[in-house]
Amino acid sequence: MKKVLIIEDEQSILKLLSYNLEQEGYNVEVTMDGQEGLELALENGYDMILLDLMLPNKDGIEICRTLRQEKSEVPIIMLTAKDTEVDKILGLEMGADDYITKPFSPREVLARMKAIFRRAERSPSKDIVGEKNPEETIVIGEIEIFPEKYEVFVRGEPIELTPKEFDLLLYFARRDGRILSREHLLDAIWNYDFAGETRIVDVHVSHLREKIEKDTRKPEYIMTARGFGYKLEIPK
Ligand code: CA
Repeated sequence: MKKVLIIEDEQSILKLLSYNLEQEGYNVEVTMDGQEGLELALENGYDMILLDLMLPNKDGIEICRTLRQEKSEVPIIMLTAKDTEVDKILGLEMGADDYITKPFSPREVLARMKAIFRRAERSPSKDIVGEKNPEETIVIGEIEIFPEKYEVFVRGEPIELTPKEFDLLLYFARRDGRILSREHLLDAIWNYDFAGETRIVDVHVSHLREKIEKDTRKPEYIMTARGFGYKLEIPK
């Protein structure tokens, strides 16, 4: 039975989530206090943590950061009260696996949890990484990708990508020039098989552009297909 910790100080949400998760067969533990939540998370092996952002005694960002500093790899879904907090969370790259904006339905939370569990079981996913080939190098213009070593060089310099940015770049690179819809990318990289929030794709593309493009206002590699999605081009 999978063990889930919910750290949330709004009683109604806490009750709704714990009831629905228990119905689905999860073993649920809860706390309304940030400090206590962190201690529980550090002491116990959970399979998943649902983490509110604003909490008494320690906020969700600090909890998430501390867990990652302590080398905990437990999947974390952030629960955010405001849409405006989402960019902040994504921008911080603090190691959360996903986020959900309130108000949400328990069904949506369960679907996201299942997507993360599926991802963990099949990672690193073969359809992103491809067959193992230690010698393989993908060259696109001035970008060199070494899939096996998770390394990327841009204009001869190594760059630091988050795992999701790396997956995204490699996925683009393996589908030379094909236009990919946001929904397609969401499904392929984040493993959401339902219409989720495609903004997570836009935010990751924008981070990726900052790292690989000379001028993000005039991208040469990752091109926007307006109203649809993105494609990777080889600059002339
Ligand atoms: Ca709260």
